[in-house]
Amino acid sequence: MTKNYDVVVIGAGPGGLTAALYASRANLSVAILDRGIYGGQMNNTAEIENYPGFESIMGPELGEKMYASSTRFGAEFLYGTVSEIKKDGEKKIVITDEDTYETSVVIIATGSEYKKIGVPGEEEYSGRGVSYCAVCDGAFFKDQDVVVVGGGDSAVEEGVYLTQMAKSVTIVHRRDQLRAQKILQDRAFKNDKIKFIWNAQTEEIKGNGDEVTGLLYKDKETGEEHTIPASGAFVYVGIQPLTSSFESLGILDDQGWINTNDQMETNVPGIYAIGDVRKKDLRQITTAVGEGGIAGQQAFNYIQTLTD
Ligand code: FAD
Ligand code: NAP
Repeated sequence: MTKNYDVVVIGAGPGGLTAALYASRANLSVAILDRGIYGGQMNNTAEIENYPGFESIMGPELGEKMYASSTRFGAEFLYGTVSEIKKDGEKKIVITDEDTYETSVVIIATGSEYKKIGVPGEEEYSGRGVSYCAVCDGAFFKDQDVVVVGGGDSAVEEGVYLTQMAKSVTIVHRRDQLRAQKILQDRAFKNDKIKFIWNAQTEEIKGNGDEVTGLLYKDKETGEEHTIPASGAFVYVGIQPLTSSFESLGILDDQGWINTNDQMETNVPGIYAIGDVRKKDLRQITTAVGEGGIAGQQAFNYIQTLTD
C-alpha cells in the first residue's frame, strides 16, 4: 500500500526527531520511519552531560523526551526499514520492507553503526561476551574483569561507565595516546579500576566454546603476544555510515558518508541529510539536533516552491 506524506524522515535519532518536530510544527504531514525504537544511538549511551539544559541525563531518557516533543504537532512514528529511495519527477518513493511512501521531501537521518575489529572470536562470541553496548550489556559483568578495545570518546566514556559494575576494566589501545576528549581521558586516568594497555594490536577474542575468556594482543613495540583474562570484551573502534540503501542516488562520498551543503541539501532537490550520516567533523547530539532544525525548515521552504 502507498502512503502519502509531505515529508518522510528516515531515522528517529536526535536528528530525525528534531527535523520531524520542525516540519510538523510548520503544518506539514510527516512520517518518521525507524527500523527499531526511537532514540537512535542515545539508547546506547549511559550518561549524557554535554546536552544543554541538563547537567546530566541518561541517553534513553533524553530519547523519550525528544520523541514526546517531535510527535506533539502530529508527526507519526512508524516502524520500517528503508531499503531504497526512488525518484519520480519531483516525487520521491520511499520503500520499506512492508510499505511504500510517496513524498515531496525525504530527510535522511540514519546515523551510523559500530565498526568491528575483524579478529577471530569477535563474531563467534558476539552476544556471549563480545558487546558493542555497555549500557545494554554491562550489568551482565558485575564483579567480573572486562576489556574495552579502542581509544576514542566511546571506548573511554563507556569504559568509565563499566567500572560501576565490573571488577576491573582494561582499555586496550593500538597507539600510546588516546583520541578521546581531554575531560574523558582525565576521568579515566583517575579511576583506580581502569588500566590501560598501550600500543596493543588486538589479535583475537579468546573463548572456551561457550563464552569469552580473554583477549590476545600483540605488543607493537616488542612483538610479544599476551592474553588478558576477561569475561567481557567491549568493542569501540569507530563508526561507519548506514547508507547502503541510498547508493543509487549518487549522494555518497567514497566512504559512504552523505555530502550536503549548509542547508543540509544533497545534490538531489528535496532530499536532505542530517546528523551522523553526513560528512562532517563533529558527530554529537547537539549537531544532529541543529541540523534537524535546519532540514525541517528547509522542507517547508522547498514545498512552498512546488506549490508557487
Ligand atoms: P542516530 O542517533 O544514529 O539515529 C539513527 C536512527 O536511524 C537509528 O534509530 C536507526 O535505527 C535508524 N536507521 C538506520 N538505518 C535505517 C533504515 N535503513 N531504515 C530505517 N531506520 C534506519 N553524543 C553526545 O553529544 N554526547 C554523548 O555523551 C554521546 N555519547 C555517545 C556514546 C556512544 C557509545 C556513542 C556510540 C555515541 C555517543 N554520542 C554522544 C554521539 C551521538 O549519539 C550521535 O552523534 C547522535 O546519536 C547522532 O544522531 P543521529 O540522529 O544522526 O543518528
Ligand atoms: P572514533 O572517534 O573513530 O575512535 C575509534 C577508536 O578506535 C580510535 O581510538 C581508533 O584508534 C580505534 N580503532 C579504530 N580501528 C581500530 C582497530 N581495527 N583496532 C583497534 N582500534 C581501532 O569512534 P568513537 O569513539 O566510537 O566515536 C564516534 C563518534 O561519536 C565521534 O565523533 C565521537 O566524538 C562521538 N562520541 C561522543 C561522545 C561524547 O561527546 N561524550 C561519546 C562517544 C562518542 P586511533 O586513535 O589510533 O585512530
